[in-house]
Amino acid sequence: MARLVLKPGMDRRLRAGHPWVYRGEIADLVGRAIPGETVEVLDAAGRFLGRGFYNPRPSLACRLLTSLDEPIDESFFRRRLTAALDYRRAAGLVSDAYRLCWSESDGLPGLVVDRYGSTTVIQCLTLGMTRAEPWVIASLASLFPGGAVYRTDDATAARIEGFVAEQGWRGDAGPSDLIITEGACRLAVVIGAGQKTGLYLDQRQNHALVASRAEGRRVLDAFSYTGAFACHALLGGASSALLLESSSDALALARRNLELNGVAERAELHEANAFDALRALESSGERFGLIVLDPPPFTRRKDTVDSAARGYKEINLRAARLLEPGGILASFSCSHHIGPGLFETICRDAIGDARVPMRVLQSLTQSADHPVRLAVPEARYLTGLLLEKV
Ligand code: SAH
Repeated sequence: MARLVLKPGMDRRLRAGHPWVYRGEIADLVGRAIPGETVEVLDAAGRFLGRGFYNPRPSLACRLLTSLDEPIDESFFRRRLTAALDYRRAAGLVSDAYRLCWSESDGLPGLVVDRYGSTTVIQCLTLGMTRAEPWVIASLASLFPGGAVYRTDDATAARIEGFVAEQGWRGDAGPSDLIITEGACRLAVVIGAGQKTGLYLDQRQNHALVASRAEGRRVLDAFSYTGAFACHALLGGASSALLLESSSDALALARRNLELNGVAERAELHEANAFDALRALESSGERFGLIVLDPPPFTRRKDTVDSAARGYKEINLRAARLLEPGGILASFSCSHHIGPGLFETICRDAIGDARVPMRVLQSLTQSADHPVRLAVPEARYLTGLLLEKV
């Protein structure tokens, strides 16, 4: 096995439990490693630090899979995925739609595994993980005998890592049109279509929270995707809901979800750019008792955080003005580079400009099936606030 020797001092992050090795931290590669293969990582003095998949192409050249002297093989993957399932079982997170494996947080950097009924959807985010696919499939077959597996890779990760993003069933095809449940809510999932692996599983807990606050309120679900927040809110007793979404495919599925839950007659769907629609709603004098802002990431890079912040400020300012007194705003950011502190500052600036006093009811984050290792804060990407107009 080839050995990656780090420059002096570059072992600190790894020893603290953070698994990333950047290209610039590597002094030498001893031996030959095909991109994506397992290498041993050593500190400058030659001491063993762990093993991980190596890829010289991205700046993040290696993510440790283990700090033990153990083989990276099918048995390793089975142990890691079993541990991931055990954590979720113990925490009561196993249902017919949940995240089984969240990359670094489950000791398998570069692998996402989501479960929809008896179907498993996997996503490879590194070249090494694409090469490990047979081990992943075999481990899943032993955990969930007979279940179908679909792979849907992220195009951006594939480009950075230098592999072809795959979309398709692994082995026998499973059902591609599924209905899952989230509490009282039923949601359609079309495997292989739509965003993420099908649903925004990271919002599961926040969907329930919004439902619990919705009774009797007129709801605005901005950036609705397939309408999960609106469906939950209407089932929770909301008087009506307006969905804003720019994707017609997402809205078609939203319409289906509203019908599935028997709440379609209280909902209105609007295919629009939410920035424009929020402005138009404000000037037309519309008001809402509950607003959800769940936009896509406005930035994926550190150097564009400022312009992203302006975007978040704009929509939160509009939402603050669109709320009735006593109205509730559930506002989110899923930009990795915007942490809870910065997000709160942005929202504070927004309500300051809007001259709308707001009480913080709760800080929000991703569901517990998207756990975070204390040593790897990057795994926490979803931040939010539940605010009340006073
Ligand atoms: N709230 C959803 C997830 C929303 S994801 C849920 O819980 O399931 C963000 C959504 O915003 C995506 O569906 C994307 O298509 C949509 N979107 C992106 N830019 C938009 C824009 N400018 N206006 C309206 N919708 C937009």
